[in-house]
Amino acid sequence: MPSPIARLIAGVPMPLVIIGPDLLVTEANGPAIAMLATTSEGVLGRHHGLLFRAPDLLAAISAALNQGQGAVVRLVTPKPGHDQVHEVTVTPLAEGALLAFADLTEAEEMDRMRRDFVANVSHELRTPLTAISGFVETLQGAAKDDPAARDRFLTIMATEIERMNRLVRDLLHLSRVEAEERIRPESRVDLAAIARSVTDSLQPLARAGEVRLALLGAEREVMLRADADQMVQVLTNLAENAIKYGSPPGSTVTLSLAQEAGPRGPVLRLKVSDQGAGIDARHIPRLTERFYRVDNHRSRAKGGTGLGLAIVKHIVQRHRGRLVIESEIGNGSEFSILLPMT
Ligand code: ADP
Repeated sequence: MPSPIARLIAGVPMPLVIIGPDLLVTEANGPAIAMLATTSEGVLGRHHGLLFRAPDLLAAISAALNQGQGAVVRLVTPKPGHDQVHEVTVTPLAEGALLAFADLTEAEEMDRMRRDFVANVSHELRTPLTAISGFVETLQGAAKDDPAARDRFLTIMATEIERMNRLVRDLLHLSRVEAEERIRPESRVDLAAIARSVTDSLQPLARAGEVRLALLGAEREVMLRADADQMVQVLTNLAENAIKYGSPPGSTVTLSLAQEAGPRGPVLRLKVSDQGAGIDARHIPRLTERFYRVDNHRSRAKGGTGLGLAIVKHIVQRHRGRLVIESEIGNGSEFSILLPMT
């Protein structure tokens, strides 16, 4: 028969451990046993020094047992991938010392991602700003009376301003898409019509890159529950990338629609394929990270913000779909969106 205290701590979802005055573990609830990654025999009755090695935590346990003093300590446990971080509250009890573990790993990871994001955005904005302020200074000084230089510098400044505009626009898109991610689209739209209109609107960009832009499988209506604007954005981002990065002059970028059987019912595959240089396999899992670029210089030269595929990923998630990237160096790339038809 478990003790009343064992029954009590069994009902608490956070890991709890009680260490008796003899320094052995007298109680541990399920989450604690799972966290300490052994069987219950391996935790109960064991000396606490075998389970915890952090000096701060051992000192806090000793203070609780010997002086009746409570404490809160931070415990970092190295794990493959990334460290696990807990805030451990040590409370003196009549039965010994109670250890309560609050898992801060995810919260700290989110914090780190937010800091990285702010640092990245600042960096992305600073680069064009530095360029613009440099040119302003030159125009006020050395190039003041040089009309040719003035024209050249103003053109570069306009390009940099356009880059900042695109960045701000993509950041706003990203935050809007993230905010809506849990709201499923209501409307039913014709994906074939959307694909036709995207293909038409990108013809000038394709012509400028001397690339042929083809559309397959869009002759008949393909109705689906989706957000029309977001579908335009997904196809535009993928096709623009295919034209920008994928395609040598004379090559073809193909946008295609096809229905296929998925494990959970019929799906629509929207595929954008190019005949470009392809992407090394090690980059593929990271392409949808914000600001991740295979070739920084090339992306910037092409006016990329590094946010296009992050936006695509969030839109696809909102549609309960999947983004599949297949590519091989020298053999082009295929970006497919698989959307449930039901
Ligand atoms: P960007 O604004 O830089 O285009 P994206 O998020 O759209 O940002 O793409 C991330 C990176 O993925 C690009 O910088 C580029 O290096 C790579 N990439 C995307 N699409 C292709 C493609 N079709 N072929 C080769 N590389 C691509």
